[in-house]
Amino acid sequence: MERPTDVRVEGIVLRTMAYREADVIATLYTRERGKIGVIAYGARKLRSRAKSAVQPFQSGTYILRPSGSLYRFVQAETVGAAALWGDVERMAQASVVAEWIVRGEEEGRPDEALYRLVRWALDRLLAGDEAETVVRTFELLYLRKAGFGPEWGRCVRCGRAAALTDFSPAEGGVVCRACRNAVPDARPVPSPLLAFVGRLLAVPPGRLGRVTLRPPQRQALSRLLDAFIERHVALDLLSRRIMAGREDLAAAAAALRERRLKRRGAGLGGEGPTAEAPAEASPADSDFAMGR
Ligand SMILES: [Zn+2]
Repeated sequence: MERPTDVRVEGIVLRTMAYREADVIATLYTRERGKIGVIAYGARKLRSRAKSAVQPFQSGTYILRPSGSLYRFVQAETVGAAALWGDVERMAQASVVAEWIVRGEEEGRPDEALYRLVRWALDRLLAGDEAETVVRTFELLYLRKAGFGPEWGRCVRCGRAAALTDFSPAEGGVVCRACRNAVPDARPVPSPLLAFVGRLLAVPPGRLGRVTLRPPQRQALSRLLDAFIERHVALDLLSRRIMAGREDLAAAAAALRERRLKRRGAGLGGEGPTAEAPAEASPADSDFAMGR
């Protein structure tokens, strides 16, 4: 059945669509080919071999036949996502991850680090980790990868890396104690959350394991990300859909970086001390593990 021209990819089903009478068109995010469309003929028939392989969040090794702008499903060895299917909250959170990739990524552009990040989020959701923490962590890392920031390590107004107390959605990052009164939308950030983000960003790509955040930190992170995304990423917050295309995203990210640099250059103190703020968090407030 497999032909020499067929391709073997590692992939995750992000979205499925019924097509004609018995077929399915699935959007897969793959390690080797990035985001691709796959047509599975007859996948909605009762006894189809393809049926379970093209269900949402199913993942594994897929053998595909290039066919125009799509790929045709040949066969697959999948690990199963049944743990998600019966859980409405978990499915909704997994859909947020899928939506970022479906709307935000171009077809046919492989990105190993992003694939690992999506894989990580799905694995953690399948393992039963607290879903909001997993998905906000995904968003934090995805936004950073897409060039949006936010800036977590230095005051967006003066550039100092010490005494960071607040966050400004409009300015796109953290604000120090000295500047917070001068930034209209600055709002306090719990220091355990800042410590969590600092440690999270220091984990080498692909080494992230289980992530936990206590409810106050989790809620604070969600609020910050919601406000930041609403301000800088054209988005329908109800479904967390990116309304802009990838090009608009890149342009918006570049404009934000530009503005941040200008602001920093014009700041009273210029570049401040580079020492890290002392971590004030207790280990019980947040935690994550490296590796699996
Ligand atoms: Zn400052």
